[in-house]
Amino acid sequence: MTSRLALPRPDDLHAHLRRGPAMPAYARREEASFGRALVMPNTLPPIASAPALEAYRREIAAAAPGLEPLMAFKLVPGMGREAVLGCAAAGAVAGKYYPAGSTTNAADGPRCPEEVAGELDAMEEAGLVLSIHPEDPAAPVLEREAAFLPTVELILGRWPRLRVVLEHLSTRAALDYLLAGPPRLGASLTAHHLVSSLDELLGEALDPHLFCKPVLKPAADRDALRDAAFRGAAPGRLFFGSDSAPHPRQAKEGRRAASGVYAAPSALCALAGLFEEAGALGALGAFVAGSGAAFYGLPPPSGSLELAREEWTVPEELDGSVPFLAGRRLPWRLASRR
Ligand SMILES: [Zn+2]
Repeated sequence: MTSRLALPRPDDLHAHLRRGPAMPAYARREEASFGRALVMPNTLPPIASAPALEAYRREIAAAAPGLEPLMAFKLVPGMGREAVLGCAAAGAVAGKYYPAGSTTNAADGPRCPEEVAGELDAMEEAGLVLSIHPEDPAAPVLEREAAFLPTVELILGRWPRLRVVLEHLSTRAALDYLLAGPPRLGASLTAHHLVSSLDELLGEALDPHLFCKPVLKPAADRDALRDAAFRGAAPGRLFFGSDSAPHPRQAKEGRRAASGVYAAPSALCALAGLFEEAGALGALGAFVAGSGAAFYGLPPPSGSLELAREEWTVPEELDGSVPFLAGRRLPWRLASRR
């Protein structure tokens, strides 16, 4: 008999579903693995007002009725306190801080927290979570995450009640900062920053489908992240967010490849294999379904997801994009969800 692994239905606390004709397929792919997804707002145009947020939520719900979208808005200088409170009233759980120029569609982000001080005041007042892409785009590429930590320190000090999430941790420095931080500081980890390292991105042949922001780091950093995930470090503060960020294949394979890994189709199965290999399968449930909900103050996940221990090969292309680990054999596959 095939062995099975039952998990509470996982939450993805960082997902890009995009907008327009490709969105429904991406949303359904997300729905196959996750019960809830915190949907990132860096669409074009950005989600930065209550009407935009409500319209986007309706589009996602229509495309993937089994997925509960958790909405976020993008912090844009000048959006104003009323727009923040409007997003909160419309059900946003988080506001996203993209330092100007840090990643896809981030040219209009704040250059420093001061540029969105009024908006952060309103977020703190409304009890919203501040989700941060923690990279300083002015620093050398592998040092950008560490270089942004003083700005995080400034934000935590100036807004003492604001809950803050450092997204997609990629370095030991940021992990150490998180572990030493207060209960209101959380962080997400992706499957690709846990499974892969800088050498897989460009050690042998350049793989544009592993190119993302923050860039994958050397194995020593990856191993520190793995260790934290396997031992369930910082319970209720360190959790899974796929940062699934699909681009059409041609946008990844031409000159100036776009950053982002299409992680949603394979992330959970890849994690199950990784945790199993480390003898840490028992820690997977809390990592993908529990810790993040606790941090965000959401009800525990409802329903379940079963994985089966059955090898499969990740397809070379799905939904017009190349998924994470395309062409690779994975030991666990999605079986059924309730
Ligand atoms: Zn992202």
